[in-house]
Amino acid sequence: MARYTTLRLGGAARRLETATSAEQIVQKVQEAQGRDEPVLVLAGGSNVVIGDQGFPGSVVLVRSRGFRVVAEDADTVTVRVEAGEPWDDLVAATVANGWSGLECLSGIPGSAGATPIQNVGAYGQEVAETITGVQVYDRTAGSVGRIAAADCGFAYRGSIFKYSDRWVVLSVDFRLIRSPLSTPVRYAELARALDVEVGGRVPLADARATVLRLRAGKGMVLDAADPDTWSVGSFFTNPVLEREAYELLRERAADLGEPPAWPGAGDVVKVSAAWLIDKAGFAKGHPGPEGVAISTKHTLALTNHRGTASTAALVALAREIRDGVHDRFGVTLHPEPVLINCVI
Ligand SMILES: Cc1cc2nc3c(=O)[nH]c(=O)nc-3n(C[C@H](O)[C@H](O)[C@H](O)COP(=O)(O)OP(=O)(O)OC[C@H]3O[C@@H](n4cnc5c(N)ncnc54)[C@H](O)[C@@H]3O)c2cc1C
Repeated sequence: MARYTTLRLGGAARRLETATSAEQIVQKVQEAQGRDEPVLVLAGGSNVVIGDQGFPGSVVLVRSRGFRVVAEDADTVTVRVEAGEPWDDLVAATVANGWSGLECLSGIPGSAGATPIQNVGAYGQEVAETITGVQVYDRTAGSVGRIAAADCGFAYRGSIFKYSDRWVVLSVDFRLIRSPLSTPVRYAELARALDVEVGGRVPLADARATVLRLRAGKGMVLDAADPDTWSVGSFFTNPVLEREAYELLRERAADLGEPPAWPGAGDVVKVSAAWLIDKAGFAKGHPGPEGVAISTKHTLALTNHRGTASTAALVALAREIRDGVHDRFGVTLHPEPVLINCVI
């Protein structure tokens, strides 16, 4: 499976199927179920860590393409996007058409159909803000249906779909605003780079170009020539701490200054995982076994930068970091990608 993942890791699958339409996706999944085999639905392979033993069943590669307008009025347009549509092609098209709402999510690898899985987000936007519904194949009921956004359980890097075998996403509806300008820029670093106040708006193409530039500088745009991008992006989510745990962290980090943090929903605080990792002694470029390493451009990305490592080596590096952060700060980091036949 290494050929199908951005980490270039993962042993063999028993069977590999390619589906180029929603009907084929359903058919291939049903056939595998009929054979009593486990099924892995895989698209861009940019958010999975597959074990060295591979996958003991059918991998269905989602390769459906395209999008169309399914509703519109004077102010908005709703596009239905096939699951396999490359995400950044969609974002580029929405920017070109003057549809606002996805521009800050430029440059994220993978497919449109995977974006609801972990409520993909970056630079102050997340797909939960624009998704109105998701067309799914329900493997439990054996039927195709639609789940409204309110029932998707969207949360920070999560939804009802993540770590669930039940739902296969066939297409996703996004409701976008007709506007030549971006949504208000919420992310301070992006606002600075665009030379606007937080809350300001900029032409869609400027938002896209600046996000792409910032991301490339961090190794967060896939580039076959840049091994710092042979990763799953951020390997750990930012820990969300109850107030008490946050105060404990502040005490333990008193000699290091204030840990970067953002208020979450309710009385919780989201803390920068990159800061915790760095301050626990794992700098950019920190090596692990077999040539895996922390990216030289971003503390949160773990890379297989020679392209020759095993999943076991990557997992060993991830454990070393998680345990080091826990020993130093008492905070447990959780992986962002979906782990398949491997554990951390
Ligand atoms: C360089 C880099 C930068 C990244 N930056 C970001 C970022 O800024 N923000 C962010 O949120 N993520 C980021 N990611 C992670 C990743 O790109 C996203 O999570 C993306 O949405 C994954 O899409 P994919 O098609 O590659 O999914 P895959 O890796 O193929 O699959 C991921 C999971 O979704 C499931 N899945 C995929 N398609 C379907 C479907 N149609 N139906 C049901 N289940 C499905 C898979 O079974 C698996 O569990 C980054 C990754 C890389 C490599």
